[in-house]
Amino acid sequence: MKFHQSKDVRIIMPPAALTEVFDECDRFPHDETGGRVIGTFDESDGALTLRILGIIEPGPKARRSPVEFHQDGEHQEKVFRNIESRHPEVEHLGNWHTHHMNGLTHLSGGDIRTYTRIVEHPKQHTPFFYALLVVSKLGNGNPLRRYSTKHYILRRGDDRVFEIPEDCVEIVEAPLVWPDGKTEGAAGAAHAGYEKFHARPERAHDREHITTFYPELRALSSKKLGIYWRGPVELVDGSRVEVVLLEGNEAEKPTYTVTLRKAPRELQAAAERLQGDAFKTARAALTATERQCNRAIWDYHQHQAKP
Ligand SMILES: [Zn+2]
Repeated sequence: MKFHQSKDVRIIMPPAALTEVFDECDRFPHDETGGRVIGTFDESDGALTLRILGIIEPGPKARRSPVEFHQDGEHQEKVFRNIESRHPEVEHLGNWHTHHMNGLTHLSGGDIRTYTRIVEHPKQHTPFFYALLVVSKLGNGNPLRRYSTKHYILRRGDDRVFEIPEDCVEIVEAPLVWPDGKTEGAAGAAHAGYEKFHARPERAHDREHITTFYPELRALSSKKLGIYWRGPVELVDGSRVEVVLLEGNEAEKPTYTVTLRKAPRELQAAAERLQGDAFKTARAALTATERQCNRAIWDYHQHQAKP
């Protein structure tokens, strides 16, 4: 198997995530082990940036041996549901596992077959699959250099396997969303407090609904806006309108407001009406947006058709 070099991918890795990975390797020096890697990503002009925000443990029913490793998928799914209710912008980016006990210094044929199946699966959310491989034990005194690692990306519709060169992997201090409480220093404590305050189970339902019915919308978060969804919604005549859906910062029950960006003339009135409305969930806001825009387009075409 030939691995292709890719300079178009950046991996931003907090030290706490590497610590999680290496601690797990230390616990199982003779067995294969691993876990899931979660975070957010950005893709523009073919360049992909992955921000690692957490490592999900293999789980209590994981099975390890020197030649095989099976994760406890049920446990990991439960953990992920919990995380997405607080951070809808977080995605499952890929997996990590180790070869430090078998001496194989790259992904195996079996690894590649499994990851290809995942990345080409119609239900896969991200158009890529990230694999972090622990290659060997270094026995270095630096806790972040206990093991050597390699990073790979598989992209949908591309049968090459890309290896990400070391200088495209940046170790940058940032708090993790999982495991809980694995954040460093005062910033971590503040972050944990913020998370507790903002845990909202409705977000998981919103996300489920939106990824099914509005697959081009992305959950994003920024310091200024908080959590919001953005992307095109397809309308009845095949046109698309860019929607920004903002979550309010009310502590208990947030409301959602909709802005249409660069709305065409026939949608102006609908855009203004929508801007005055507050919705109880993101999915309700999107359904209302789609209906009002479709009605406006219908009215417009009816009007146009009259002599
Ligand atoms: Zn492997």
